[in-house]
Amino acid sequence: MLYLIDGRLSPITIYHFSETYIEKNVSPLEANYKSEILRYFNKSYRGAIVLMKEKCVVCNESIREYGNTSTDGFWSWNTNLTHYVEKHNLKLPEVFEQYLYKQEFRIKDFLLDDLEKFYLKINRYVLSADFFEDNFESYLRNRNMSLDDFHHKYSIEECVKIEKEFDDFFGIESFDGFDLKKVNYVRLE
Ligand SMILES: [Zn+2]
Repeated sequence: MLYLIDGRLSPITIYHFSETYIEKNVSPLEANYKSEILRYFNKSYRGAIVLMKEKCVVCNESIREYGNTSTDGFWSWNTNLTHYVEKHNLKLPEVFEQYLYKQEFRIKDFLLDDLEKFYLKINRYVLSADFFEDNFESYLRNRNMSLDDFHHKYSIEECVKIEKEFDDFFGIESFDGFDLKKVNYVRLE
């Protein structure tokens, strides 16, 4: 899953790169300002670090950094965006390119406090895990199932089906933990 978050305004905007977008926007030709963009990515700060592996949708290579996020204090993105720009010349959304261009590809100075504030702001838009778990458990109980059954007895397909029914029942729409009712969500196709 590849995304980019504009955290400058409230609510935040999440740009989600669909596989279709990635396939359509990679190129054998060098992207504009590629080296400046890569330098910007390298100088950014690490946000969340999640040890997961995912294969690149273009070259099938394992990307070790999958799940990690990077930030400049205003935007946040998956660290593996670097792979797509470096190896596949992925075209970034216009709004982000213009932002980088306006800053002349230089990361603005900021204080550690500002970075904390940035993450507090982003985290406001994340679905509450407690809310989710409590409701999910009572949903299962009402259907004579238990969380233990869910984790141990059912196949992945059955689990996905139950989760989908739960989402429909509560009208929850989420994207990678973000509550879609609270954010601007832009799926790049
Ligand atoms: Zn690749």
